[in-house]
Amino acid sequence: MSIDYQAVIGLEVHAQLLTKSKLFCGCSTQFGAPPNANTCPVCLGLPGVLPVLNREAVHMALLTALALNCRVSPTSIFSRKNYFYPDLPKGYQISQYDRPLGEHGRLTVLSGERSETGKIVNRTEKSFGIRRIHMEEDAGKSIHEGMPDSATKSYVNLNRTGVPLVEIVSEPDFTSSQEAYDYLTHLRKTLLYLGVCDGNMEEGSLRCDANVSVRPRGTEELGTKVEIKNLNSFRFLQMALDYEIDRQIREIAQGGRIVQETRLWDEAGGRTFPMRSKEEAHDYRYFPEPDLPPLTLDPAWIEEAKRSLPDLPDAMAKRFMTVYGLGDDDALSLTSTPRLAGYFEECARASGNPRASANWVMGDLAYALKNSGRSIDECPLPADRLAALVQQVDSGRISGRMAKAVFEEMYRTGASAEQVIAALGMEQVSDEAALAGVIDRVLSANPKQLADYRAGKEKLLGYFVGQVMKETKGQANPAVLNTLLKQKLAE
Ligand code: ADP
Ligand code: ZN
Ligand code: MG
Repeated sequence: MSIDYQAVIGLEVHAQLLTKSKLFCGCSTQFGAPPNANTCPVCLGLPGVLPVLNREAVHMALLTALALNCRVSPTSIFSRKNYFYPDLPKGYQISQYDRPLGEHGRLTVLSGERSETGKIVNRTEKSFGIRRIHMEEDAGKSIHEGMPDSATKSYVNLNRTGVPLVEIVSEPDFTSSQEAYDYLTHLRKTLLYLGVCDGNMEEGSLRCDANVSVRPRGTEELGTKVEIKNLNSFRFLQMALDYEIDRQIREIAQGGRIVQETRLWDEAGGRTFPMRSKEEAHDYRYFPEPDLPPLTLDPAWIEEAKRSLPDLPDAMAKRFMTVYGLGDDDALSLTSTPRLAGYFEECARASGNPRASANWVMGDLAYALKNSGRSIDECPLPADRLAALVQQVDSGRISGRMAKAVFEEMYRTGASAEQVIAALGMEQVSDEAALAGVIDRVLSANPKQLADYRAGKEKLLGYFVGQVMKETKGQANPAVLNTLLKQKLAE
């Protein structure tokens, strides 16, 4: 009989905080600065200088801990994590260890299974444990490829050394790669909403290591875990987890056992491979950082931070469902980034038509942005202008079809709906007298069709509509036209 195994996954996520300066010195954190330009004696680890803690970084870490429902320690401690590496000139990294900033948190994740068409079919709300969140400084970057002398030399760029990070360690609460994926997606969104991290995995401002084990389904005891590093995209996280879960189950089924080790994701090979085993694991010789006092937070400051927490993605999605009557799918799509959510909400409020606003934002606007390679931050069409276009349709001044053409022109030129409608002479003809005249002309020009219609061939209604549209260059108001035409045909 074969045993049914279940995966157990825990994630360790490093997020770079969006401060202007580093964690313990005044150096800039700007990405892409000339190599080693953003350095000083403190972050270079030269003797005789002292670290000074960055208040803004603590504030951002605190907001994160609160948003993740952590218990915030009134006093946390920075320690030295000692190891030798060429990108770590001090020979140690300052990191919170046994007294982290926050513990015992939770993140509730609204997600669902997606059907083949991408629609959410089974909405679920799951809550995952956060073991701890702590602050630490980043190390530098060794560069082994792509430099003039890379064949014989390695390079080091210390711009990143000392940049503030938070590490967010989950409980081993995920049972599939999909759950881990949903959690990371949601965690990233939360950080974006808080404005504490830009969430860019390619530039390394969000990094993820995954711990994986398997156990017979229904049992409690945890199996031996393997840590996978080097997962710099959501897709790789999911692929690496699926590979690793499979590998461990196969290994055990063949009578083998799992060794505790660190593995790397090999993108080209689509597999994980061993990097180091437990035996070679580091002993970091942690001890409290003698140059920094314990970090004690004023309770009033914590309370103030709590009050200043912005609307978080789930609360926002739920609000979109109840206040604007959107479905789960639309609410989740529109809250994927705070900018997109803000854009939609501004348009919905200004136009008074949330449904149409959602359709424009997820439809024509998303399409136009994609085609012009822009993100919502770079959208050339302000939300209140799109709202004005929605209103032009709702008031019956232009048809839905014309609105699409007006939209394209607005997006291209940045002009207002009013300007574009006037310039293109697109005004919809809703005036009954004007339309009646056109209908009369069309009917008398088509006596045969008219006779056929009156003899019972009602399908011909569409033909007459088409003729009137042709006469008015598509500008007849369809609703008014339909009513008038039916009246005339019945005469
Ligand atoms: P380590 O001391 O090796 O860093 P931790 O206990 O600090 O291990 O846990 C690190 C991460 O690994 C956490 O996210 C935790 O949830 C996860 N984890 C711990 N044990 C297991 C296990 N047996 N299987 C899967 N994940 C685990
Ligand atoms: Zn510095
Ligand atoms: Mg650990």
